[in-house]
Amino acid sequence: MEKWSCLNCEMIYEPDIYFPFCRQCNSPLIVWSKKKGRRFDLSRPSCLEKFKSFLPLSRINKNLLLGEGNTPLIRLFRLEKKLEAPFPIYAKNEMANPTHSFKDRGTAVVIQKAVAGQIKKIGTVSTGNMAASTAAYGAKAGLKTFILLKEDASFEKTLSTGVYGAHLISVKGDYGGLFKQSYEIGKKIGIYFANSCDPYRLEGYKLTSFEIYFQLGQKAPEYLFVPVSSGGHLVGLLLGFLELKREGYIRQLPHFIGLQARGCSPIVEAWEKNLTDIIPVKNPQTLAHAISNPSPPAGRLVLKLLYQYGGQMIGVTDEEIMRAQAELASFEGLFCDPASATTLAGLKKWRRLNPEVKPREAVLVITGSGLKDLSPVKERGKISLIPVRLPCLEEALVSLAL
Ligand SMILES: *Cc1c(COP(=O)(O)O)cnc(C)c1O
Ligand SMILES: [Zn+2]
Repeated sequence: MEKWSCLNCEMIYEPDIYFPFCRQCNSPLIVWSKKKGRRFDLSRPSCLEKFKSFLPLSRINKNLLLGEGNTPLIRLFRLEKKLEAPFPIYAKNEMANPTHSFKDRGTAVVIQKAVAGQIKKIGTVSTGNMAASTAAYGAKAGLKTFILLKEDASFEKTLSTGVYGAHLISVKGDYGGLFKQSYEIGKKIGIYFANSCDPYRLEGYKLTSFEIYFQLGQKAPEYLFVPVSSGGHLVGLLLGFLELKREGYIRQLPHFIGLQARGCSPIVEAWEKNLTDIIPVKNPQTLAHAISNPSPPAGRLVLKLLYQYGGQMIGVTDEEIMRAQAELASFEGLFCDPASATTLAGLKKWRRLNPEVKPREAVLVITGSGLKDLSPVKERGKISLIPVRLPCLEEALVSLAL
C-alpha cells in the first residue's frame, strides 16, 4: 500500500488527499516508496507513460491526458555569447505545456489519481497558472472544479481560467489563511484541493528531471536554475534527480539554484540569515506574480534540502527580472513570464558571485508563458510602432533595412 512521508522529519503517514502535511513540522508530504528497479519506456508518446514506473499510478488513463510534458530543451547560443559564458546554457521550455506552464505535469498526475479514486470534485488555490491548469484538466475529466483565485490575479489569467467553465471564486483575504482553509473546507464537503505542494503534483514535476536527463544525453545538468514560490516545483525536480541517483543512472545531483523576487523572497531571506525556517512576508510586492507566495508551505523543506545537497537561494530585483524577460525574448525568441525570467537574472547574479566557477552546463527552467500577463511588457514601454502611409512603405523599409 502507498505511504506518504515527510522529507524533513522522516515520519511515515497514511495518504490523505485532504491533508497532505506532516503533523510534526507542517512540511508537505511526498509519496514514499522503497521500490527499486524502475525502468524507462521511451517508445511511449506520453510522458506519464514513458516514466510510469517512477509514478504511483498502476495504469494511465489516456482519456485524461492533454499532451503535457515532452517539452524542448533549447540551447541559448546567443545569450551565451552576450553573457560571455564559457559553458552551455539551456532553457527547459515549460511554456510548451497545454496551459503554458509546468503546472500541467502535476495536474496530469493529480487527475489520474482523482479519477482512479472516484473523486468527483477537485479544486485549487492559485495565483494563476495552477488555476488554469486545474480548470483545463478538470474539464477534460468532467469533474466539478473549484478555483480559488487571489484577488489580484491578472485579467489574462482570470479569463484564461474561466474559459474552461470551472467555478471561479475570487477570494479577498490573507493567502496563507486561504490555503489552510481550503483543506478544512475540502475535507468537510469532499473537494480534493490539489494545491501547490500536493504529493501527486510533485510526482508530476519529477518528469521534468527525467526529460532533462535524456535531453542532455543521459546526464544531470551541473547547475539547475528554478524559480521558487511555494517550493513544490523545486522539491519535485529534486525528487526526480534523487530517484535517478538511487537507481544508479547518475552519480551527481545538480546544484539547485532557487530564485525569488526580492519583493517576496521569504526563502532567500531565511537562506541569507542561516535560518532553518521562513518568516512569512507581510506585504509581497513584485511583478513576478507566479512566485509571490508570502508563506511558502515547502519553505522549510527547501532550506533543508538545499543545505543538504549543496544548492543555494538567490534573490533578484524586479528591474533585473524585466531586463531578463526582454533578453530571453529578443535574443532567444522565448517570451516567458517574469517568474521564469528570474532564472536568467539569477544566473547573471550567480556568475558575478562566483566568477571562478565554470560549470559543465546550466539549465534554466522556463516555467510559464509571458502571454498570461502583458502588463510588465506594457510597463517597459520599449515597443514602438512605426506609422507609415502605404506610398511611403518602400522608403521606410529601405531606410530600416540599411
Ligand atoms: C507556480 C509557478 C512557479 C512556482 O512554483 P512553486 O511550485 O510554487 O514553487 C514558478 N513559475 C511559474 C510560471 C509558476 O506558475
Ligand atoms: Zn515533518
